[in-house]
Amino acid sequence: MWERTGKRKPRRKARTTRYERRKRRRMRYLTLTLFLLLSGGAGYAGMEGTLFLRETLPAEGSLEVHFIDVGQGDATLLISGREAMLIDAGENDQGTLVWNYLKKRGVGDEITLKYCVGTHPDSDHIGGMDVILNKFSVEHIFLSEYEKDTATYRDVLEAVEYYCVDRILPVVGERYTLGDAHFTVIAPNEEDYTDVNEASIGILMEHGSNRMLFMGDCGEQAEEDTLKNGIDLRDIDLYKASHHGSSTSSSQELMDTITPEYAVISAGEDNDYGHPHAEVMNRLRMAGVKVFRTDEQGSIVAESDGETLTFNCAPSESWLAGEKR
Ligand SMILES: [Zn+2]
Repeated sequence: MWERTGKRKPRRKARTTRYERRKRRRMRYLTLTLFLLLSGGAGYAGMEGTLFLRETLPAEGSLEVHFIDVGQGDATLLISGREAMLIDAGENDQGTLVWNYLKKRGVGDEITLKYCVGTHPDSDHIGGMDVILNKFSVEHIFLSEYEKDTATYRDVLEAVEYYCVDRILPVVGERYTLGDAHFTVIAPNEEDYTDVNEASIGILMEHGSNRMLFMGDCGEQAEEDTLKNGIDLRDIDLYKASHHGSSTSSSQELMDTITPEYAVISAGEDNDYGHPHAEVMNRLRMAGVKVFRTDEQGSIVAESDGETLTFNCAPSESWLAGEKR
């Protein structure tokens, strides 16, 4: 219902105004459709921040990977067929933004949120997860046994219990399917890490010949342990740079093994940690990796057809570190 406030305008005039607004909206819609047709049906348009319109469902047989711009933090949405997976959900104040992003992509409607993953209990990863659990019917959630005594973490556990979401403890080597893709749990490999980051849940996602690596905030120790667990991590196509591009992660040893073609860094503009660090940027540059970053480019969307990967924007060429000079 329309609610009128303030000075009323003559009825006739108001009707004309609404008609004009509708007309303008229709024009915008037509322009968007035309843009989609001209852009070869790529399916992405109006990428302003995180809210953009979805005119079609994901292409059949594809895997979409959305690195949602949540400032300093992580939130990655993967969609294949009619199934979605959310790895982390950003800080406490990003939950609503992540929820809106998922909704715009058809999650909760035509697409089921089959899996959520809380890589580790830090607030920049699981802060928004309680909102997601409240708003969507989530089938399974991966949470490790590594817990943290914070209100943020308790909110997530309470929501998991309240909605009876099936909690899966990550077991290295276990495989699951997501639409036309499948993934393997590759970390954590030890139970006694003293640093919560090292206990991050690691995921190897495979879609056709495309291989993608997500390791939360794993540091060098966790990377070393992961490389020893017997799972083949060579020839990774897309690497989500761990710990927002911190120099404590993405070790040379890991880079030499996975030899990624693309890397995505999820970090906040002018963040307090100086992410991404110069050391990692140099390592990626020397290895000829094409780098995308949310602090410069907003949300990054990659689409796999099982053989090739296409992105919604060109790689960043700034090679700028987040450290203050
Ligand atoms: Zn983090």
